[in-house]
Amino acid sequence: MRRKLAAGNWKMNGTTAALSELEALARAHPSPSIDVLICPPATLLHRAAEAARGTEISVGGQNCHAATSGAHTGDISADMLVDAGANAVILGHSERREDHGEQNEDVRAKARVAMDAGLKAIICVGESLEQREAANTLDIIGGQLSGSIPDQSTGENLIVAYEPIWAIGTGKVPTLNEIGEVHDFIRARLERRFGEGVGRSVRLLYGGSVKPSNAKDIFDVSNVDGALVGGASLKAQDFSGIIDALQKA
Ligand code: PEP
Repeated sequence: MRRKLAAGNWKMNGTTAALSELEALARAHPSPSIDVLICPPATLLHRAAEAARGTEISVGGQNCHAATSGAHTGDISADMLVDAGANAVILGHSERREDHGEQNEDVRAKARVAMDAGLKAIICVGESLEQREAANTLDIIGGQLSGSIPDQSTGENLIVAYEPIWAIGTGKVPTLNEIGEVHDFIRARLERRFGEGVGRSVRLLYGGSVKPSNAKDIFDVSNVDGALVGGASLKAQDFSGIIDALQKA
């Protein structure tokens, strides 16, 4: 049985005051039947981990460097994330692929060091609108999966998030059939590469404009094990609605 996961990506949002949202979330869900993860900006990570101590919420990073240490001004290593209290890291988000030119091989190298450091790597894949309209979605996702996911992956250290780029922060969501088609495809690819045991144990998240109002329908789709949530994870009340929907799925 794959344990469901609701993961919040705060992106470049939140200063000290935002920690009260994490605290409110913990109060609203003292013993969730699913995993709940908040990935705040790096400046808040340690304090978020402290705020989450003794609760069922865990915290994660939004990126790490592919090197373990060294002359990389402004970057953060996987060990530093662990030291700050993280147990997971988002890698290969489309905003990083776009803003920082991250390629599949960069994501794979980062995922390797993250896994070596004991972090769960949440590897993001997803097509642009042009690629979907050209019926290239599965080719693009297939390439991202084989290029970005390292060989050492297991059901414990790998989580894959399907995030169509055109659905992120836009309020647009693929049809349930479209989500199901991609998630089934990802599952089949993982089973083919890693064998049925590992392939079936990796959690697959959907991400892109998930809200309390559409969460239930999305969570009913086969092979959707949870969500990676941007905007709706910033407010405890909104994220709570998504957690509630996932607990009932
Ligand atoms: C994201 O960026 O990971 C995301 C899913 O954003 P949103 O929920 O705001 O669409």
